[in-house]
Amino acid sequence: MVKFKEAEARKFHNVFVCKNCKQKLRAPNLKVIAEKVTCKTCGGHAFRPVRKK
Ligand SMILES: [Zn+2]
Repeated sequence: MVKFKEAEARKFHNVFVCKNCKQKLRAPNLKVIAEKVTCKTCGGHAFRPVRKK
């Protein structure tokens, strides 16, 4: 499969997934690490990067 860097950056750069409700959101990763980002849907602070594989 061909990968496009531009598309990857757009889809995955600074995008995180809530561990509780699987909601995606875009935020600076430093903020996520510092737990200063709150999930809009469930109010949680647990996130993982969007790309698992
Ligand atoms: Zn959530």
